[in-house]
Amino acid sequence: MASMISPLVIIGAGQAASQLVASLAQDGFAGEVCLVGDEPHLPYQRPPLSKKFLAGELALDRLYVKPAAFYEKAGSRLMLGQRAERIDRAGRAVLLADGSRLPYSTLVLATGSRPRELPLPGAFYLRNIADVDAIRARLAPGKSLVVIGGGYIGLELAAVAVKLGVGVTVLEQAPRLMARGVGPIVSQFYARLHGEEGVVIHTGAAVRGLEGKRVNYGHAQYDADIVVVGAGAVPNVELARAAGLAVEDGIVVDAQCRTGDASIYAIGDCTSQHHDLVGRRLRLESVHNALEQARIAAAAICGRKPPAIQVPWFWTDQYDVKMQMAGLSAGHDQAVVRGNPDTGRSFAVFYLREGTLIAVDAVNRAPEFMMSKQLIAERARIDPARLGDESVAMKDMRN
Ligand SMILES: Cc1cc2nc3c(=O)[nH]c(=O)nc-3n(C[C@H](O)[C@H](O)[C@H](O)COP(=O)(O)OP(=O)(O)OC[C@H]3O[C@@H](n4cnc5c(N)ncnc54)[C@H](O)[C@@H]3O)c2cc1C
Repeated sequence: MASMISPLVIIGAGQAASQLVASLAQDGFAGEVCLVGDEPHLPYQRPPLSKKFLAGELALDRLYVKPAAFYEKAGSRLMLGQRAERIDRAGRAVLLADGSRLPYSTLVLATGSRPRELPLPGAFYLRNIADVDAIRARLAPGKSLVVIGGGYIGLELAAVAVKLGVGVTVLEQAPRLMARGVGPIVSQFYARLHGEEGVVIHTGAAVRGLEGKRVNYGHAQYDADIVVVGAGAVPNVELARAAGLAVEDGIVVDAQCRTGDASIYAIGDCTSQHHDLVGRRLRLESVHNALEQARIAAAAICGRKPPAIQVPWFWTDQYDVKMQMAGLSAGHDQAVVRGNPDTGRSFAVFYLREGTLIAVDAVNRAPEFMMSKQLIAERARIDPARLGDESVAMKDMRN
């Protein structure tokens, strides 16, 4: 006999949703789970979209977080290619684009984010598999690409494209690259790196418009075969806002990832949550955050002890350079460099506030990244001179 209890419904079938299904199963959730996703694909990983998948070095099925059989085994129903249009909180149901009504016992919003659009008709964006297919079809040796925005997605795209023989120009309106995520030392390193690889970088270059294939910026113009915008992301919060849930940049959630409605949770890129490390609410766009919030929400839904919170971390791959970042550098009062960012491709920058390590940007430096993650979590006070001294091994940094 069919259960009379409404399912747990997840809106959005991305990285956070997939982890939630896995964590609910691990935590012993016995009810039915419905996963509603507007893309036609199984939940997939986005990071390779601007890296190996774009380069053609990774097959589509390797993007999927889990195979279809996993969801079946976990007792979840996939409703892919299906958009949720409205939440009826009073009636505890989600209204779908096909007109049907999906009742829920618990609802989890995992709607992610989308590219910030600029008024540039004809420009491409990079968020999903269809975007990559469209961009890749236009990248060929001898073609020209203008990337608008020197954030990590734009720069990863630039790195892949120039290796394919495409002429690449990056236009960044800020005075330096990846300004939102890293400090000036790291920005300078990336400007050098891309210059060495043949990418032309213009910072302080505000784009005025796009006419056909002509990009107008500053007082100059540039003709490109393809223009891709990487200007950051905006959270998909419209469903939550229309349902009367609090939104402050992202959907406001508490430490358990619960919204102001006790039966509605939100996880991943779409959320805004208080972080002890910075002492304020913020919205993180990272795989680590998506997975961690999914685990937290699953534990809360199942009445289990929440997992320990880890220091936020992120990575970017450009050419042969993997940068791993841990912690949040905002508010640092000292930056200590280990290694030489002006030559070679391996160094780390540690960020301290009042003598306490709060973040690291580790460029091809796995040990610095791994150890710093622990030290940041411990709120360790480390002698800056030792951090910068290559003769002191990272494992001995506590002493
Ligand atoms: C090109 C690219 C490269 C990246 N590289 C890195 C990296 O190197 N490292 C890193 O840590 N992070 C990286 N990220 C970020 C990371 O991928 C995201 O933080 C992560 O995917 C967030 O997961 P999510 O489940 O919250 O959102 P998503 O993965 O975006 O999933 C949300 C899903 O919900 C769907 N949806 C939205 N609204 C509705 C609705 N109303 N009805 C049905 N479905 C809906 C969306 O279409 C989407 O499929 C990258 C992102 C991109 C785009």
